[in-house]
Amino acid sequence: MAAQLFAFIPHANSRIDDTAPELAAAAERLFPGVPVTALVTGAAEGLEAAAAEATRFFPEVWKFAHADLAYPNAEILRPLLARVLPRGAVVLFTHNTLAMDLAPGLAVKLDAAYLPDVVAFEGLEGTQLRAVRQEFNGQVSTHVACDLAGGAVVTLRSGCFPAAGELSAAGRVVDRSGDVQGIAARRRFLEVVAAEVGDVDITKEEVLVSVGRGIGDKENLPVAEELAEALGAVVSCSRPVVDAKWLDKSRQVGTSGKTVKPKVYLALGISGSFQHLGGIKGNPFIVAVNKNPKAPIFQVAQVGVVADLLEFAPVLTEAVRKAR
Ligand SMILES: Cc1cc2nc3c(=O)[nH]c(=O)nc-3n(C[C@H](O)[C@H](O)[C@H](O)COP(=O)(O)OP(=O)(O)OC[C@H]3O[C@@H](n4cnc5c(N)ncnc54)[C@H](O)[C@@H]3O)c2cc1C
Repeated sequence: MAAQLFAFIPHANSRIDDTAPELAAAAERLFPGVPVTALVTGAAEGLEAAAAEATRFFPEVWKFAHADLAYPNAEILRPLLARVLPRGAVVLFTHNTLAMDLAPGLAVKLDAAYLPDVVAFEGLEGTQLRAVRQEFNGQVSTHVACDLAGGAVVTLRSGCFPAAGELSAAGRVVDRSGDVQGIAARRRFLEVVAAEVGDVDITKEEVLVSVGRGIGDKENLPVAEELAEALGAVVSCSRPVVDAKWLDKSRQVGTSGKTVKPKVYLALGISGSFQHLGGIKGNPFIVAVNKNPKAPIFQVAQVGVVADLLEFAPVLTEAVRKAR
C-alpha cells in the first residue's frame, strides 16, 4: 500500500520533543522507505529552530507559523490540518494531551480511521494494520485491526517505538504558514503557570527511584528511600502516591506532574499508565519492578523484574551498598 505519511511534531523552547524520532521510526516500521512529511506548528519564536531540527529525521518539514499557534490549540490545529492534509493520509501523533484533544475530531473531519494510544504494530497486510492498544489505564491490552485504506489518525505512546539506529534525513523546510489564514479560535491562551519546585527538583536528577501505588503504605517508603540513598538517587512517585499524601506533589512524575529526564529510572510498583510515562523524557534506562508480569510498564522497560518490591528493593539496596 502506498500511503501519504505525516507526523505531527511536538516541540518546546526551540527543541523538538524526544518523541519526534520515534514517530519517524514508527513510520519506517510501518511503511519502509516511504517518505514522511513532518508538521511543525507554532509562533515565529522557536519555530525556525524546531523545524530545522526536524529535518534531521524527516525529508520534508511543513512549517506553519502564526501568532495564534504560539501555544498548541486544537481548535485551530484541527481545521488547519484538515485543510492541508490530503484525503487518505496516515497521520502519526505522539499520544499526549494535545493529541487527545486534537486527533479524534481530526479523524472525523478527514473521514479517516482513528487509532489512539498504540504501543506496538503487529503487522500490515494490504491496507489492514494490526496493532496493540492499551485501555482502562493500561490494565487491558487490546489487539485491533484497522483499515488504512481511507486514511488514519494514529497516536503512539511515547517510548514504545525507539529508533533502531541513527536516523538521518537531511530534509528541507517548506513554509506553509499561508494555510493558517482565516482560522480563528474561541479558546484563548492565558499564561503558563510554572509548577512548584519543592524541597528537591526531580527534573534535574540523573537517577530516580520512583514509587507507585504498589508501595502499599507510607510506612513502606523507607524501602525506596534507602535504595535511592545507596544509588545516590532521589525518590519520585506516581500520582496515587501524592493523592494518598504519602509524598509531596513536587515528587510526582507525569502529565499532571513533573517532566523528568533522568539517565536511569527505577519504577517500583508502577503500572505504567500513559499519564505517568508521559512525564518521562530523554529515553532513560528504565528498570521496572512489578509483581504483575503483564504490567504495561514492562513494555517500555529495558529491565523488568517480576517481584514483590518490598522483598526485592532491600536486596538490591544491599547489593548496591556492597558493590560500592
Ligand atoms: C487527567 C489525568 C492526569 C493524570 N496525571 C498523572 C500523572 O501526572 N502521573 C501519574 O503517575 N498518574 C497520573 N494519572 C493517573 C494515571 O492514570 C494512573 O492512575 C496512575 O499513573 C497509576 O499509578 P500507579 O502505577 O502507581 O498505580 P496502579 O496503576 O494502581 O499500579 C500499581 C502497580 O503496582 C503493582 N504492585 C502492587 N503491589 C506490588 C508489590 N508489592 N510489588 C511490586 N509491584 C506491586 C501492581 O501490579 C500495579 O502494576 C492521571 C490521570 C488522569 C485522568
